[in-house]
Amino acid sequence: MMIIMQPGATQAQIDHVIEHVEGRHLSPHAIVGVEQTIIGAVGESHSVPTSVFETLPGVLSVTRISQPYKLASRQFHPENSVFPLDGFTIGGLEIPIIAGPCSVESRTQIIETAQAVREAGANALRGGVFKPRTSPYAFQGMGEEGLEYMAEARALTGLPIVAEIMAVSQVPVMVKYVDVLQIGARNMQNFNLLRAVGDTRTPVLLKRGMSATVEDLLMAAEYILAGGNERVMLCERGIRTFETATRNTTDINAVPVLKSLTHLPVVLDPSHSTGHFNFVAAVAKAAVAAGADGLIVEVHPDPAHAMSDGIQSLTPENFAKMVRQVKAVAEAVDRRLVTPLPLGEGQG
Ligand code: PEP
Ligand code: MN
Repeated sequence: MMIIMQPGATQAQIDHVIEHVEGRHLSPHAIVGVEQTIIGAVGESHSVPTSVFETLPGVLSVTRISQPYKLASRQFHPENSVFPLDGFTIGGLEIPIIAGPCSVESRTQIIETAQAVREAGANALRGGVFKPRTSPYAFQGMGEEGLEYMAEARALTGLPIVAEIMAVSQVPVMVKYVDVLQIGARNMQNFNLLRAVGDTRTPVLLKRGMSATVEDLLMAAEYILAGGNERVMLCERGIRTFETATRNTTDINAVPVLKSLTHLPVVLDPSHSTGHFNFVAAVAKAAVAAGADGLIVEVHPDPAHAMSDGIQSLTPENFAKMVRQVKAVAEAVDRRLVTPLPLGEGQG
């Protein structure tokens, strides 16, 4: 439930309410606004009558959050969550673009790609080092060696790095290197992993499972938020439908639907959602037009020889073209792309 404090409620009154929340074995999550403080009381709250809190000094009103997800809901947190990601913010007016290869394949490949995407306007670098592959015989990623190359690429370009975490045991090594932990579609409901990243304070990009509903995605985000990690971005990456013309079906509806249900930033991945480089720019533009707060796009210097997802990877030239078009769409919907670092800065 949500305990809305009166405007001007004192800190002592707020602390008193928090004590009562804890006394009922609920966990308090306070949102301190300029005008008003709201205290979320999360847990098994259905058996606790609202009057327990309504009668406390400084309390204006108490309402129950109707959705099963609480901390993720817009009802609990009416303003968009805006948070910093090393040099820029996500969730506000400005739209960042994350780009890079599906997998880190070598030191040269990731550094070359980082420089190319930065030049084309990317704000962060992606690259998988622990790869969830359908076949156990397919390339599984470079592991920690790949993270070292990613870190080197970050030092050279100034781009923060995003990489997928596949297991709880990878938390220590991943938080040592990456700026954003990606949870892949296949792990969206790996609840142990969600709890483990919820215990870190590293931002998380949570991808929608291929057969997950919007509510499943928000419940997965709730696990991370409940651990106290508030920096969660949701990612629509296409869902499985009867359609076979594309690898997945981009659920473009999910963008405005999520924006209405949650305060968390919404990112779209047009690479996995289409599965073909020819369709990536069109869907990237649609995503920004629909209200997405960010994009994550696969780019490879030589897609024909990529070790994974080559067919859906853009060349740096095609990526640069996509960025120019997306920029125009962003401006048409009263947003703008994050200004890339001036070339030369953050390098060397
Ligand atoms: C990826 O980003 O390379 C990836 C494996 O994505 P997803 O989890 O969306 O399939
Ligand atoms: Mn991929």
